[in-house]
Amino acid sequence: DKINIAIDGPAAAGKSTIAKRVAAALNMIYVDTGAMYRAITFAHLNNKEIPFNELVNQLEIKLINEKGQRVLLNDEDITDRIRENDITENVSFVASQPEVRAFLVELQQMMTRDKGVVMDGRDIGTTVIPDAELKVYMIASVEERANRRLLDNESRGIASSYDQLIADISERDHLDMTRDISPLTKAEDAVSIDTTGLSIEHVTDKILSLAEE
Ligand code: C5P
Repeated sequence: DKINIAIDGPAAAGKSTIAKRVAAALNMIYVDTGAMYRAITFAHLNNKEIPFNELVNQLEIKLINEKGQRVLLNDEDITDRIRENDITENVSFVASQPEVRAFLVELQQMMTRDKGVVMDGRDIGTTVIPDAELKVYMIASVEERANRRLLDNESRGIASSYDQLIADISERDHLDMTRDISPLTKAEDAVSIDTTGLSIEHVTDKILSLAEE
């Protein structure tokens, strides 16, 4: 039987790393919804004069499960591009636009139709899949999140500093938690996991055991 797993939480809490592993272990599809907001941000920065309601209608976003997950925007591979600083700095603004959220929530709900998914984001348990069989709300201290992101950026060849990352992550969480439409918040029936000091294996196993229940 198909089940859906929703993983939400603040920036850089380890959601995608864990969600990928959980999906692989359960032979489910992994969907990174943050990548979709980042893809629209990339399009917006290249076409600032186009209003969001028109912009979204010109976009076809595809997530391909190949070499990790590739993100295609109108068939252009922007997987690495959307991790750069200009995208990260503008994504919360773009994600606060009603037309952008309506477009992506519908697309994300379509992706759950045929096969069970492990979907990570900010509003998956509250809005995209409110009837998900398992909901996880993943948190970690801001210091740990900045350290993880520092290593992550290093491996991608993106320059960043610890202090700047603390500031950026805090700012993005603030924007995501205070926007008008489906702000970041824990779904009532989500299980909270604080991953501070926990290994990737430990958190993955914890979620796999919750999924078996
Ligand atoms: O997960 P990631 O950090 O890549 O997400 C980038 C941004 O996209 C978030 O800071 C948030 O503004 C937005 N987002 C969202 N809803 C989601 C996923 C991401 O608003 N479901």
